[in-house]
Amino acid sequence: MDLHSGLAYWIVKNELYDYFHPLKTDFSVDVAIIGSGITGALIAHELCSAGIACAVFDKRTIATGSTAASTSQLQYEIDVPLSEMVGKVGESAAVMAYQASLQSIRDLESVFKETGVRPDFKRVSSIYLASDKRGLNMLEREYDIRRKHGLPVGFLDAGTLFSTHHIEGPGALKNREAAQMDCYKAATGLLKHHIKKSGLSLFSHTEIVEYKERRGGYALLTGDGMTIRCKYVVVAAGFEAGKFLPRRVMNLISTYALVSQPVEPSQLWPERCLIWETAQPYFYMRTTLDNRMMIGGEDVEFRNPERRDRLLRWKIRRLEKKFKGIYPEIPFVVDMAWCGTFSSTDDGLPYIGPWPGRKRMFFALGYGGNGITFSMIAAQLIKNKLKGIKDERENVFGFER
Ligand SMILES: Cc1cc2nc3c(=O)[nH]c(=O)nc-3n(C[C@H](O)[C@H](O)[C@H](O)COP(=O)(O)OP(=O)(O)OC[C@H]3O[C@@H](n4cnc5c(N)ncnc54)[C@H](O)[C@@H]3O)c2cc1C
Repeated sequence: MDLHSGLAYWIVKNELYDYFHPLKTDFSVDVAIIGSGITGALIAHELCSAGIACAVFDKRTIATGSTAASTSQLQYEIDVPLSEMVGKVGESAAVMAYQASLQSIRDLESVFKETGVRPDFKRVSSIYLASDKRGLNMLEREYDIRRKHGLPVGFLDAGTLFSTHHIEGPGALKNREAAQMDCYKAATGLLKHHIKKSGLSLFSHTEIVEYKERRGGYALLTGDGMTIRCKYVVVAAGFEAGKFLPRRVMNLISTYALVSQPVEPSQLWPERCLIWETAQPYFYMRTTLDNRMMIGGEDVEFRNPERRDRLLRWKIRRLEKKFKGIYPEIPFVVDMAWCGTFSSTDDGLPYIGPWPGRKRMFFALGYGGNGITFSMIAAQLIKNKLKGIKDERENVFGFER
């Protein structure tokens, strides 16, 4: 399956990490990580840092799955608002998920500081706009419950929203705990760092086509007929993880993104914050360090890559119109556009940990609009599991929740 198509900005901006290194012999390692996107890269980082021997395998060129298509906004706010999540998973689990998400942005920042990898990580504010009266009512409930649990949040009424952010709308939530980055640069940077520093083995163009449980671990078979023997497998295969799962746990969605030509910094909106809205499917926007605007959304149910791609031109026009509805005075000229495949779960939470009964196969499935923050949580949870460290977050994100 093509995970995205069109011109994904990050690969053009950074240049492709042109690393062709398929596995050509049988191989043994303690932990085999399937997938070299941001999830696989963060897991490799956590394991290497903890002294656990691991290797990463990817069937494509490194990090060219969903990671290359991501608009890379980092928000503690999950697709399912806290006020709704409480009804799905209970108050304490929902609050723990939100707190874990908040912490994960700080942890990502620390990872880049520790390693010296510079993926254009930048702290920014996040504005959650009410699209209409119904959205405003929801935001009021959301504000109350987040305040009750000490989560960072402020409320902007219509007047304040206009005077401080020049947006006409019924109101918004704001927090200063968000960030943005370049997810492709982060994944490739972390992998390169650990190849050099920790002797990490990285294999591209190596598809895992079959797996067999054996005493003390797994034997993985590659498309070229090589066998990888390992004690543990970590499936960080993104939206293609289904082949390793006994049953489907996510819904696939097609999503669209555009980046504008650069503008003068003075033409951009106040604080260059992340902006998203309560309407479904939602629209979101951010800026880049080189003064472009990146916008996205218009999600629809995924049927096949052909249908997703056919809709691209129409979706570009709709996204541009949405942008103009918020900031009509800012000139937005589309430079590149792409579409990607995305996924969601019914409760808005990722699936992290072993499938019940398979103690040596861990999944790191950061589905939803917060995929990257979930990847950070997954990397820590899996490292802790391998180290025998109890982590209370496992009950919130595990398959048996
Ligand atoms: C347009 C778009 C915008 C997004 N915006 C945001 C955002 O603003 N914030 C956010 O947090 N998230 C966002 N996301 C989601 C986020 O990008 C993803 O959650 C994240 O990139 C997933 O990373 P991953 O490493 O799990 O998956 P991927 O990057 O898809 O990596 C999985 C890898 O596994 C490999 N693989 C699969 N099967 C096999 C196999 N059998 N053998 C070997 N290799 C295999 C694939 O080749 C792939 O490289 C967005 C996604 C899209 C598409």
